[in-house]
Amino acid sequence: PDVTDLVDRTVPVVADWPEPGVQFRDISPLLADPQAFATVADAMAQATGEVDLVLGVEARGFLFGLAVAERLGVGFVPVRKAGKLPGSTESVSYDLEYGSATIEVPSGAVAPGQRVAVVDDVLATGGTLAATVELARRCGGEVVSAVVLIEIEALGGRAVLDVPLAALRTY
Ligand code: IMP
Repeated sequence: PDVTDLVDRTVPVVADWPEPGVQFRDISPLLADPQAFATVADAMAQATGEVDLVLGVEARGFLFGLAVAERLGVGFVPVRKAGKLPGSTESVSYDLEYGSATIEVPSGAVAPGQRVAVVDDVLATGGTLAATVELARRCGGEVVSAVVLIEIEALGGRAVLDVPLAALRTY
């Protein structure tokens, strides 16, 4: 099946949401279509390269990251927004358009030397995935690839990542 076409058909654009001028890609119809989701998850799993672990970012990165990890037969680490995890954590802060955000994983969630793929639904400015790459490295992981369903090319995210990026669909 043509994955590009499948993404076009199952991820509609919501104009001017959450603010005027933003074209929001809504993955809900894709999640509701089991055949379509299986096809994109298979394609994303094929794009990671050889890895020991998948990291996915809260919240939509959980959905795709876990599916990819399960297909690869490797573990999955949910990367949380600040303040959600008990115990000792590793964290990275990064700038947003207004303010900043912090993401965390439990200390020891990534073992030194593990080969890691970072997964998310949409790559926009790249801030979120770049911070996730940094977080994996801070734990001693070796980030092999970044894999997303959709890349919004005009926002330049690919250029802020220093790992190979695979996108099933680029707009
Ligand atoms: P970035 O950090 O600017 O690359 O933004 C990426 C993050 O924002 C990802 O975690 C996405 O889940 C979310 N995001 C940005 N644009 C969209 C969109 O159009 N649809 C769904 N999520 C989006």
